[in-house]
Amino acid sequence: MTDTDADAVAAGDADTSGEDGDGGDFDDVLAAARALLASGPLCDHCLGRPFAERSFGLGNHERGHGLRVAVALADDTDFEPGAAGDCWVCEGVFERVDEFAERAADAVADYEYATYQVGTRVPPLAEENDRLLREDAGMDPDAGEPLRKELNREVGKRVGQVTGTAVDFDRPHVQFLLDVDADRVEATVNSAHVYGRYRKLERDIPQTEWPCSDCRGSGRQGREACDTCDGSGYLYPESVQQLTAPVVEDVMEGVDSTFHGAGREDVDALMLGTGRPFVIEVDEPRRREIDVRRLESDVNAFADGKVEVEGLRLCSHEMVARVKELDATKRYRAAVEFGADVTEDDLAEAVAELDGATVEQYTPNRVDHRRASMTRTRVAHEVTGELDDARHATVEVHGDGGLYIKELISGDEGRTEPSLAGLLGVDATVTALDVLSVEGEDEAFEQPEFFLEDGRGDGDSDHVASDDGDGDGDEE
Ligand SMILES: [Zn+2]
Ligand SMILES: [Zn+2]
Repeated sequence: MTDTDADAVAAGDADTSGEDGDGGDFDDVLAAARALLASGPLCDHCLGRPFAERSFGLGNHERGHGLRVAVALADDTDFEPGAAGDCWVCEGVFERVDEFAERAADAVADYEYATYQVGTRVPPLAEENDRLLREDAGMDPDAGEPLRKELNREVGKRVGQVTGTAVDFDRPHVQFLLDVDADRVEATVNSAHVYGRYRKLERDIPQTEWPCSDCRGSGRQGREACDTCDGSGYLYPESVQQLTAPVVEDVMEGVDSTFHGAGREDVDALMLGTGRPFVIEVDEPRRREIDVRRLESDVNAFADGKVEVEGLRLCSHEMVARVKELDATKRYRAAVEFGADVTEDDLAEAVAELDGATVEQYTPNRVDHRRASMTRTRVAHEVTGELDDARHATVEVHGDGGLYIKELISGDEGRTEPSLAGLLGVDATVTALDVLSVEGEDEAFEQPEFFLEDGRGDGDSDHVASDDGDGDGDEE
C-alpha cells in the first residue's frame, strides 16, 4: 500500500474512534481491519494475524473471519469470504498446512518416534508482505505475530494430530524442517541411547575400535596388505565397542553407532565386578521401543564370553555427558611381582602406609605424550595386600579416578610418590591389572531422571542402580 492509503486509514481512525483514540477500542480495530481489507485479497489468517495479541483462545483465522463479519455488519455491505489461496500476503500457504503435515508424516513413516518439533522457513517475500500489510494499514509493522510463527504452530499442531505424537521443544525424536520456497519437508531423526555396564573378561581387548596406525585403518600399505595389522585395518581385532554396539545398532535399525564409556581400562586389564558404565548411541534409529532384556541377552550371545553387559536401559541424551564427566572412584586388583623377597610384615607395613595416602604422580612415561606433563594429586582411599609367595602379591586399591595404579606400585622411577616399591625398597611390577568397580564419587550414575520408560518392568531394572557410580578416565 501507499502512504496515501495509510493517511486515509489514520483519518478514518480519527473519524470513527471518537473519544480516547488509544488504539484499544473496537472502532480502532474495525478501522484497522477495513484498512487491511483494502490492501488486496487476504485470507482470514493474514487478516487476523496483526491482532494475534487480542482475545486469547482464538486462532488468527477466527480473528480474521470475525473481523470480516464485523466490518460487513458495521458497514452493511455484502459479506465476502476470505481469499484463501489468493491471499496476496501468504500466497495461500495456510491452505497447504494439511499437505505439509502429511508429507512430514510420510517422511518418517518407517520410524518409531513419540516426539517431534517443526521448524519453518517462510519465503522472504511473504515475510516482507506481512510487514507491508501492517505498514500500509498504518499499523505497527510488528503488530500481532509474524507469519512464520503462525505457520510453524499450525503445521506443528497438524503434525501432532496426523502422527499421534507430542511436541518436544528440547530434544525431540524427530525434527521437521519445512522450506516453503523450495517446497521441501526435511526430517532429521535424532539418535537413541542405551545405557548399561560392561565387564571385560579377556585381556587385550581395547574399549573402542583401534585403527592400525601404520595404515591408518585402511588395511593396506600401497598395493600390499598392511603387515602390522594383517590387512584388517585394526591393531586389535575386536573391542568392547565392536562386541556390543553392532547388536544395539542392528536391533534399533540405526545407520551408525558410538560407544561412550565412563573412562576406560588398559587394553590388557580386565573389567570385572559391577562393570563399567557406558552409553551406546544409535544414529537414525527406526526402532526405539525395544525389549532391553532381550537386547541384553542378544549382546551377551554376540560377545561370546569376552564381554558381558548388564542393566541395559533406554536413557536420555544427557546420559552421554554424565558417563563421560561424572567424577568416579575405581577399585583395582593388581598382580604384583617383586625384584627381591618380601615378607608378610614388610608388605603389611608398606600397604598400611599407602592406605589413605595422598599420591603425587608426574605424568607416566607410558602415557600419551601429546598430553601436557604435570604432577597430579590423587587419593588412594583404601589399599590392601596379600602375599602369594615371597616374590608375588595381590594388591587391591580403591582410588580416585585418574590414579595411575601401575605407577603406584612401581614408583615409575621416582615419578610417583609414595609407591609400594619405594616403601618396600624393592622393585615391584604390575603383571596383571583388573578393574573391579567404577562408582560415582558423590552419587550413582544411575539416577532415575536419566532413564526413559523402557518396558523393562519393575523387576531388577535397578539392581545395578543401587550402588553404582560413575567415572571418568582411569588408567590408560
Ligand atoms: Zn494469507
Ligand atoms: Zn595396518
